[in-house]
Amino acid sequence: MQNVEAFKELLSSPKKIVVIPHYKPDADALGSCLGWAGILKKKGHHVQVISPTDYPIFLKWMKGEDEVLVFQEERRLQIERQVQEADLLFCVDFSGLGRIGELGKMVEASEAVKVIIDHHLEPEGFADYLFWSTQAAATAELVYELTVQMGDRGLIDKDIAECLYAGINTDTGSFKHSNTTKNVHLVVAELIDLGADTSKVGNLIYDTNSLSRLKLMGYALSKKLVVLKRYKTAYLSLSKEELLSFHTQTGDTEGLVNYALSLKGVVFAALITEREDGVKLSLRSKGSFSANEVARDHFSGGGHRNAAGGRSELDLKATVEKFESVLPLYLKQLNNVN
Ligand code: 5GP
Ligand code: MN
Repeated sequence: MQNVEAFKELLSSPKKIVVIPHYKPDADALGSCLGWAGILKKKGHHVQVISPTDYPIFLKWMKGEDEVLVFQEERRLQIERQVQEADLLFCVDFSGLGRIGELGKMVEASEAVKVIIDHHLEPEGFADYLFWSTQAAATAELVYELTVQMGDRGLIDKDIAECLYAGINTDTGSFKHSNTTKNVHLVVAELIDLGADTSKVGNLIYDTNSLSRLKLMGYALSKKLVVLKRYKTAYLSLSKEELLSFHTQTGDTEGLVNYALSLKGVVFAALITEREDGVKLSLRSKGSFSANEVARDHFSGGGHRNAAGGRSELDLKATVEKFESVLPLYLKQLNNVN
């Protein structure tokens, strides 16, 4: 990590700080924000976490979650003022201003010192400090390391450790993905030492399904899974009406794309959903095949090699057709994955 000394100096007197996760924050984005906010508060700063959108109910146990300000049109002026008046802005688990919706323009216009803490590919160059590594499995791993480098390990309590553990657990697919390094396990061991109850966090994240969510999953897998053997690809698409009929809440479709990827012989999977604000794609891949490249080159998105996302201006049907139509471009790569 770069400039830690100068960064430490910057945080040596109380500051007004805003911490922002990406659109529809997942456990890593929200857990990293809340963990980091917890540390900054203990250091005497005034900290506000501002989320561009709401987030899944299974993250609502995180300490400090009840103080997160979620962007809504009625709160625009209040949020604009907070971003404008901040001394420091932390962009956590994203590195492109297109990932925070309406907040993007506010961050761009702000004169605050801007800091990115992130592990996604291809960061934009808007930050004064960049704590960024694509080697990190989760942003929460980077938050832990930054805290240690600042000499503040002692400030990590049980609540903060559990926020960070949640991010690492989910971004590694419960320690299954290829990003699960020795360092991941070492950091988790430290978080357990610092009080994280890993079993409790696992239960809160994975075992709190609503009946409608399970029914949605059952419906999607039994009725909507399309397998394209030639391209070693499987995908699911869900319309606004289908999502509505299962009373879908934010986060209910999370994990669905992994079922498609879990099919034997499949190396690329997509979940294509029609949301209030357009069509969203969630892409996953195995091994050398880059979901990031497909997201970046065809769906205005990005992410990591094996987990990426994007969006489409087309309607659901046309997006599905477009998805199918780009596969032939990758025929060789798709068939070369071991
Ligand atoms: P998910 O499919 O779970 O929404 O996202 C998978 C990964 O891709 C996450 O790391 C997420 O941050 C990233 N991602 C999702 N959607 C987008 C997008 O529209 N643009 C970019 N750049 N990254 C995305
Ligand atoms: Mn992450």
